Amino acid sequence: MKTNRENDSVPLGSISSHTNPVGLPWPRVTREEWNDYRWQLAHRITSIGDLSGLRYFPREEADLLGRVIDTYHLSITPYYLSLIRLDDPDDPIARQAIPSPDEYYGMEVGEDDPLEEEKDMPVPGLTHRYPDRCLMVVTNFCSMYCRHCTRKRIWPLGEAAKTEFELNKMFGYIRRHEEIRDVIVSGGDPLTLPASRLEFILKGLRKIPHVEIIRIGTRTPVVLPMRIDDELCAVLEKYGPIWVNTQFNHPREVTAEARRACERLLRAGVPVNNQSVLLKGVNDHPEIIRQLNTQLLKAKVRPYYLFQCDRVRGLEHFRTRLSKGIEIMEALRGHTSGLAIPSYVVDVPGGGGKIPLMPNYILSMGEQRTVLRNYEGIIVSYEEPQDDGRLSAFPETGRPAPRPDVYRLMTGEIQALIPAGNERMAKRRRRCESASPTT
Ligand SMILES: *Cc1c(COP(=O)(O)O)cnc(C)c1O
Ligand code: SF4
Repeated sequence: MKTNRENDSVPLGSISSHTNPVGLPWPRVTREEWNDYRWQLAHRITSIGDLSGLRYFPREEADLLGRVIDTYHLSITPYYLSLIRLDDPDDPIARQAIPSPDEYYGMEVGEDDPLEEEKDMPVPGLTHRYPDRCLMVVTNFCSMYCRHCTRKRIWPLGEAAKTEFELNKMFGYIRRHEEIRDVIVSGGDPLTLPASRLEFILKGLRKIPHVEIIRIGTRTPVVLPMRIDDELCAVLEKYGPIWVNTQFNHPREVTAEARRACERLLRAGVPVNNQSVLLKGVNDHPEIIRQLNTQLLKAKVRPYYLFQCDRVRGLEHFRTRLSKGIEIMEALRGHTSGLAIPSYVVDVPGGGGKIPLMPNYILSMGEQRTVLRNYEGIIVSYEEPQDDGRLSAFPETGRPAPRPDVYRLMTGEIQALIPAGNERMAKRRRRCESASPTT
C-alpha cells in the first residue's frame, strides 16, 4: 500500500545511504519513482555527456573514455550512482562503474576469452566444462556494466536476450546430457529479463528431470535492488530449488536497499551467496574484504568465492598478484567467522577451470604424524590413525565413477596422467605400431 508520504518529493540524499556532495541530475525524484526499477532503467547514465555533468574530465580524457565506450558500453543506474562519492577520484564504487583511461590503454593487453568459455560451448551460449554442471548465457544485457566484467567480449554483440529458439537449443543439450544436475543461469544479468522470460527459462529447466538445482548469477541486488520485487520473487519461489549468486565487492555496496533485496530472495526460499572479484583499487586489502564479508553475514549472505581477476582485455589495471589474494586469506582464517571466509579461486587460462588457492597450513607430512601450523603461527603435531591408510572402495550410488583425473590417481585406479602431447609416449606408440602392423 502506498501512503501519501511515500509519494512526497524528497531530496535524493535522504533516500540513499550517502548524501552526494556534488549532486545528482535528478534533484527531486519521488520516493515512488526511485523505488521503481523501470524508472531506474529509464534514467541510466549511458554517455560521456551524462558523465561530464557529474564529474570533471579534461577534454583529452573525455575523448579517450568516448573511445572506450564505443567498444565497451556504459550504463550506471541512478541507484548505483548514488553510492559513488563523485568528488573522490579513487572512489572504489566509481572504479567499478566509470571507465578510466587505463581501460583504454589496457585494451591491447589480455584476451577476449582467456577462460576459453566459447571453446567448451557445444551449443551457442552454453558452456559445459565440469562433469555435472553447465552455464547458460541467457542475455547480454546488464543494468550496470561493470568495468571489470569477465564476459566483456559479449558486450559488442548488442544488448539482446537469447531468443526462445536459442534457449530451446540449450534445453535440448541439457536434456540429452543426464549427467548435468546443476545449471547456472548467467549472462549478462538474468534478473534484468522480464519476469515472463525468466519464467520461460526456469520452467524449461524444471521440465528436465535430472536438473536438480538451478543457480542464477546476477548483480541485480547490488546495482538495481528494487528489481527484486514481489512479481520476480513469486517466479523464483515457484521453480525452486534455486540459488542466487551475486557480486558484492565493497562494504559500501551493502546498503539497506541491497539488504532488503537479499531478504526478499531469502523469503522466497532462495539462498544468496556472494562471489566477489578481487580488484585493485576497489577491495585489494584484507580489512576491506573482512568488513565486506562480515556485513554480508549480517544480511545472511554467504561469501562463496573470492575470484582472482581474469586476464581479460582491458582489465589489466584491475589485476592484483596472486600473492595479494593469499595475503587476504591469511588475514581472514582464524581472525573472523569461518562463515565469512570464501574460497579464493583463480580461473586459469586455457579452460582449466577454477583452482582454489590458500596459504600453506601443512608444514610436513609423515606416515605417523603431520605437522601443521595455525593462523597464529603455532606449530602442531597431528597424530594420524594407525590403519592401513587405504581409501575405501567407491560406493554404489548409481552415478558413474569419476573420470580420469587426480582423484583416480589417489584411489589407485590409474597409475599416471600423461599429457596428450607427451613426446616420449608418442615415440612408444609409434614403436608399438611398427612392431605389430595391422592390415
Ligand atoms: C564457475 C563455473 C561453474 C560453477 O563452478 P562451481 O565451482 O560449481 O561454482 C560451472 N561452469 C562454468 C563454465 C564455470 O565457469
Ligand atoms: S553484472 Fe556480471 S555480466 Fe554484467 S557487467 Fe557486471 S560482471 Fe559482467
